[in-house]
Amino acid sequence: MTEYRDGHLARALAETLAREADPHRDYRIMEFCGGHTHAIARYGIEDLLPRNVRMVHGPGCPICVLPVGRIEDAIRLAGQPGITLCTYADLMRVPTPDGGSLLRARAAGADIRMVYSTHDALQIAETEPERRIVFLAVGFETTTPPTALAILHSKERNIFNFSILCNHVLTPPAIRAILDNQDVAIDGLVGPAHVSTVIGTSPYEDIAARFSKPVVVTGFEPLDVLQGIVMLVRQMNAGRCVVENQYRRAVIRGGNLLAQRAIADVFEIRESFAWRGLCEIPYSALRLNDRHAAFDAERRYGITTLPAADNPACACGDVLRGVRKPTDCRLFGTVCSPETPIGSCMVSPEGACAAHWTYKRFR
Ligand code: SF4
Repeated sequence: MTEYRDGHLARALAETLAREADPHRDYRIMEFCGGHTHAIARYGIEDLLPRNVRMVHGPGCPICVLPVGRIEDAIRLAGQPGITLCTYADLMRVPTPDGGSLLRARAAGADIRMVYSTHDALQIAETEPERRIVFLAVGFETTTPPTALAILHSKERNIFNFSILCNHVLTPPAIRAILDNQDVAIDGLVGPAHVSTVIGTSPYEDIAARFSKPVVVTGFEPLDVLQGIVMLVRQMNAGRCVVENQYRRAVIRGGNLLAQRAIADVFEIRESFAWRGLCEIPYSALRLNDRHAAFDAERRYGITTLPAADNPACACGDVLRGVRKPTDCRLFGTVCSPETPIGSCMVSPEGACAAHWTYKRFR
C-alpha cells in the first residue's frame, strides 16, 4: 500500500490543485463515505488543499445513521427470554436518550454477544439450537451481500433459530436526499469506494445528470483521495458533471453482479426508512422479502419501531448532513469523546466526530 501513500506524489498532487483551483470561486466537495472522512482526517488531507477547496463530511457511516429507535428495538428484543442478540462491537456503545445502550443491557443480564460477521452469528445459531439467535444487521451495500449469504446458507441448512433485524440501507437514495436538501451547498461528490465495488458506478450517473454535480468514485488511500479531488476540480473548472472512476483497481461500472444477485434474491426495498439526521427517505433501505420472511426478526417478533428523539445537545444530525463540522458542536472534546460518547458520530471509527477527535483535527 506504500505506493498510495508516497509523500512526494502527495505534494505533487497538492501543487496541481494549488495551480488549477480557480482562486475566484469555492469548491465544496462532499465525501459521502465515513471511510473517506477517516482517511481525510488521518492523513491531514485538508491541510494540503487550497483554502477555497473545502471538504464537507457526509452521512456514510452505517452506525451513525442508524436511528436510535432501532437500537431501542434491539435492546427490547434482547430482553426477551431465549433470545441471543449478536452485533458488532461499535453498536454496543451507541447511547440511547435515556442513557441506555446494548452494553448496559448486557450488563443488566440480556444475552448480547459481539461478533465480527454475520457468519459468526450463524455459527452460534448452529451450535446453540436451543437459543433464538438474532443478528442486528447494519450497513450500506458493502455489508449486505454477507447478510444475504448467511440467510441463504441458513435456509439451505435448515437453521431456523436464526433471524436478522435488518437495517441495511442504500447509498444512492441518501445522496439524492442530501442533494435535494437546500441546507448545504455542495459542488461535487467523492463517491464511495467499497459500496461502489458492489453497485458499480452506474447508479451515480442519473445523480450527476439530475443535480448537475460531478461524482468521482475514489479509493481510500491518501493519493486516491487527492487524485479524486483533482479530478473533481478539473470537472468543475470545465463545467462538466459526469461520473468518473478513480478507483479502477477495484470498481467497474456494473459492480459485482454475483453480490447484486444475492441481495436481490433475499431482500426487497422498503417504501421508506428513517435515517438519523436525514429523516425519512423513500426507498432507501432493505428488508427481507416474503420468501425469506422466516428469517426476518421484525415479522417473527412483531417489532414496531417507536419514534425516539436524539439527545437535543448532540449535533450528529447536522454533522451527518454536512451542515456543521464536529468541532462546531459545543460538546465536542468536552462532554463528548470516544470514552464518553453522547452521539453515534463519536462512537463509530467511521464517524466524523471520532475521526476529528482521534487525529486531533480541532478546526
Ligand atoms: Fe454528537 Fe458528540 Fe459529535 Fe457533538 S461531538 S455531534 S455530541 S457525537
